[in-house]
Amino acid sequence: MKQIEKGLCSSCGLCSVKSWPVEESLQSCVFANGWLGEREKKLFGRQRSLEDPVEMRFGIVAERFTAQLKHQVSGAQWSGIITRMAMRALEEKLVEGVVSLHRSSDHHFFSVPVFAETIEEVYAARGNKPVLSPVLQSLENAYKLGKKKILVIGAACHLHTLRDFQERFAHLRDMEILTIGIPCVDNVARSKWPWILERMSGSPGSARHMEFMQDFRIHIRHDNGRVEKIPFFSLPEELSDPGIFPPACMSCFDYLNSLADITVGYIGAELLPGENRQWVLVRTETGKKLLKLIEHELDRFPETGRWECHSFVKSTSQRIIESMRDVNKQFSAKRKIPFLIGHMLAGVLGMIGPKGIGFAHYSVDFHLIRHYYFVKYRYPDQLEKLVPRHVPVILAEYGLPL
Ligand SMILES: Cc1cc2nc3c(=O)[nH]c(=O)nc-3n(C[C@H](O)[C@H](O)[C@H](O)COP(=O)(O)OP(=O)(O)OC[C@H]3O[C@@H](n4cnc5c(N)ncnc54)[C@H](O)[C@@H]3O)c2cc1C
Ligand code: SF4
Ligand code: SF4
Repeated sequence: MKQIEKGLCSSCGLCSVKSWPVEESLQSCVFANGWLGEREKKLFGRQRSLEDPVEMRFGIVAERFTAQLKHQVSGAQWSGIITRMAMRALEEKLVEGVVSLHRSSDHHFFSVPVFAETIEEVYAARGNKPVLSPVLQSLENAYKLGKKKILVIGAACHLHTLRDFQERFAHLRDMEILTIGIPCVDNVARSKWPWILERMSGSPGSARHMEFMQDFRIHIRHDNGRVEKIPFFSLPEELSDPGIFPPACMSCFDYLNSLADITVGYIGAELLPGENRQWVLVRTETGKKLLKLIEHELDRFPETGRWECHSFVKSTSQRIIESMRDVNKQFSAKRKIPFLIGHMLAGVLGMIGPKGIGFAHYSVDFHLIRHYYFVKYRYPDQLEKLVPRHVPVILAEYGLPL
């Protein structure tokens, strides 16, 4: 139970299952085993290439493109590709149910794990719950019901732990498990969420949708449709405190969910007014099968943007390293820079900074650097186990020390 004692637990939900010993769940925990490595090799027959800069960041991929649904799913996080794919998988009897999350009845942004067996229940799982969520708890329902084919929608920690568990122990071995992954980063504990939202938004009570966007602003949509935009640079300084994020998420090295059959995000797509373009990374044969279910419902677009973002990442890397090293730093409640200047800066960076695929490259590298130094300075004994082998190669590209 060492990883829990150290706070390295993302509450993935596997340990809550009572149908098998908790010690078994703990053996499969990604924080006990580390990210990628052998797990990636078992899924793809090889680890990602250290010679390929794109594969090092985005993982092993059969096909990548941007797209949105022609008829978008109302209330989904973006155009609703994940929800639609899950509904179609159930309709076509590819699976007997879907392990995912519903919204909690008492808090819009909180989650309740669900094993959805009807189209209505799958539809009700749409939309983000930006808090640590015990998705895998619902495996128990599927297991007790004797299901043989299920779909699991989860973040990288869920899918790492699930794939390990299915292989290591007999309980789920007879089940065919299809997986859809969300990219995931900067997730938070429920106990911290109200405090964080109050510091981001001028009217937290009416917030219904939130995302960190490619225009260097947080977009918060409210219940009356108003979208509040807050430049990253104008957030209160205290939101830069690494201590507000769960140590598990600061020790996470698979932003783009590389063990999913298909990953569906938005970060590598172009941000265009009035559109909800998403970024799709098809990884396995099962991923191709899932995509085929909704292929005709998609408007597809090629990826856009230039890959290059070296100077952009390099210019922030020293500041990241220092803030991870300074364990006792005090953070003030003051905004880092005034709103108006923050918007001007975001506007300039929106014009000259990385876009499309370059923005995804930047975001992956920024978080990978931040997490490497978080673990190095705060959990040094976990460094060797948790950090996948491509991370030092990327650090070396920026001339950063190990
Ligand atoms: C904390 C968090 C951070 C994210 N960061 C990024 C990012 O940096 N870049 C990026 O490209 N994408 C990110 N995403 C994913 C993105 O916001 C969308 O969920 C994704 O693009 C799918 O959009 P959609 O319209 O197809 O989703 P929908 O059709 O609305 O389906 C979303 C699915 O994800 C499930 N889900 C919601 N919250 C969670 C959760 N906490 N854990 C597990 N499953 C959940 C829902 O229950 C639903 O099944 C993040 C998601 C979360 C929850
Ligand atoms: S992350 Fe999951 S498997 Fe690991 S300790 Fe937490 S609940 Fe258990
Ligand atoms: S940031 Fe990583 S560890 Fe945290 S919830 Fe997301 S995938 Fe899991």
